[in-house]
Amino acid sequence: MKKIIIKYYSTNLRAPEVSFREALLKGLAPDGGLYMPRTIPDLKKSSMNQFSSMSYHEIAFCILNNFLSSEINDDDLKVLCRDSYNFKVPVEKVADRNFILRLDQGPTASFKDFAVRMMARLMNYFVSIDNKRYTILTATSGDTGSAVANAFHGLKNIDVIILFPSGEVSETQRKQMTTLHDNISVIAIKGKFDDCQRFVKRAFSDTSLKGISLSSANSINIGRLLPQSVYYFYAWSRIGEKSGEQVIFSVPSGNYGNLMGGVFAREMGLPVKNFIISANSNNEVPEYLRTGTYKTISPSLNCISSAMNVGHPSNFARLIALYGGVMNEQGIILKSPDLERMRKDFSGFWVTDEETRETILSSYKKSGVLLEPHGAVAWKGLESYQKKFQSQNTTNQSFISLETAHPAKFPEEIRKILGITPSLPLSLTELENKTEEYIELENNYEKLKEFILKH
Ligand SMILES: *Cc1c(COP(=O)(O)O)cnc(C)c1O
Repeated sequence: MKKIIIKYYSTNLRAPEVSFREALLKGLAPDGGLYMPRTIPDLKKSSMNQFSSMSYHEIAFCILNNFLSSEINDDDLKVLCRDSYNFKVPVEKVADRNFILRLDQGPTASFKDFAVRMMARLMNYFVSIDNKRYTILTATSGDTGSAVANAFHGLKNIDVIILFPSGEVSETQRKQMTTLHDNISVIAIKGKFDDCQRFVKRAFSDTSLKGISLSSANSINIGRLLPQSVYYFYAWSRIGEKSGEQVIFSVPSGNYGNLMGGVFAREMGLPVKNFIISANSNNEVPEYLRTGTYKTISPSLNCISSAMNVGHPSNFARLIALYGGVMNEQGIILKSPDLERMRKDFSGFWVTDEETRETILSSYKKSGVLLEPHGAVAWKGLESYQKKFQSQNTTNQSFISLETAHPAKFPEEIRKILGITPSLPLSLTELENKTEEYIELENNYEKLKEFILKH
C-alpha cells in the first residue's frame, strides 16, 4: 500500500503544519488553535464492505492505518488497537430501523474510554521510540480523571499525576482513580476544581519544572478524535444495512468531540445522511444553526446530563474549519463557514432536563430500553427529528442513537424516575474490594511542585 503522509494544520491558521506525532504530543497548536488533518483519506467501498465480518479492533486498525501508515508500522498499530479495544460494543435494535449504540462497556463505563485508551497508547508508543519518559499532569472534577487514569495505567514510559478537589468527586469516581497504583498517582487538593486546574496551568509554565517532560491528556487532542470515528463505522457494519441505505446518527453533544469523530467518518465515505446534534439546555450550537449567530453560554447551565454542560465547545472550531470558516478560542467567528451546507448536514435539537427524564421513563416503558441522561438526550433528539421530518420519504434509512455512559453511573436519577436500581457493570463492582491510595495536599502550589520534583 502506498503510504500517504497527512499533515495537521491549526484552526487558527497561524502555526506551521505538523505530523500526527507532533500534533499528538503538543496537544494545542502554538497559535492556540486545534489541529485538523489537511486531508482526510477516502475509504474504499470495497474495504468498508468487509467490516461486517471484522472485530472492533480490526476495524479500528483499518481506519487508523489510513491516517498513520507513514508514522507507525502496521504490526505495532495492530497491537495498540487490540490492547485499546478489549471490551464489547453492543448495537441494540429498538424497533424498525432504530438502534442504540452502547459505548458504555469500557473500563470506566463511559464513551471517553474509546478516545483516551487509544490516545494513551499512541503517546506511549512515540515516547518509547524516543526513549523518553513523560509525565501527564491533569485536573479532574470526576469523569475525565478516571478515564485517563485507566487508559494510561500500566504503560511503561508515562507517569500520570491526577489532581482532584478533595471531597468533591463521588466515591465511585475517586475509587476508579485511586485503586490502580503503579504509574498512576492521585492527589486530593483541599480546594476546588478551579484550583486544581490553576495548578496544572501554572506547572506547565513553571521553568523550574523544565527538566520534567510534562504533557496533558487534553480533551482537544487530535489523538482522541480520530479513534472516535471508528465506532460510527462499526455500528453501521453491525446493523445489516440494506443496499443503498443511509444512516442518521443522533449524537449527545457537549464539547463536540464525539460529533467530530462522526464527521471524520462521513468524510472518509460512511453513508451518513444526517447528524442529529442533541444538546441539553446548553444549546449554543443548535441555536447557531437556527439563527446563524453564535453566542457562548457563560457560565454554562447545570443539567442532569452533566458531561454535556459546556457553554462554548472547543471542538466546534474544528467543525467550522471543515466548512471553510475560522473561529477563535473566544468563540468569535472571524470567517463565516458555509452555513447553508452545515444546515443540510446537521439538524440541531436541544432537550430540557424535564424532557430528559420523560424520555428515560417513556423509552423504558415503551421499549424496555434503559437509558441514562446523556443517552436520553440523544434519543429525544432522534424522536424530535423523526417527528419533524415524518412527512418525507423515509425508506432506505436507519437511525442510530449513541448511549455514552452506563445507567449504573446515575443510580439516584434512575431510581427517582423508574423506581429501579440499574445493576453495576463488572468494572465498577470490582472496585469495592480494592485498596485505595492517594495523598492529600494543602491548597498550595509549592506543595504540589515539591511532590512533582520528588516524584
Ligand atoms: C464527555 C461526554 C459527552 C459529551 O461528549 P463530547 O465529545 O464532549 O461532545 C456525552 N456523554 C458523556 C457520558 C460524556 O462523558
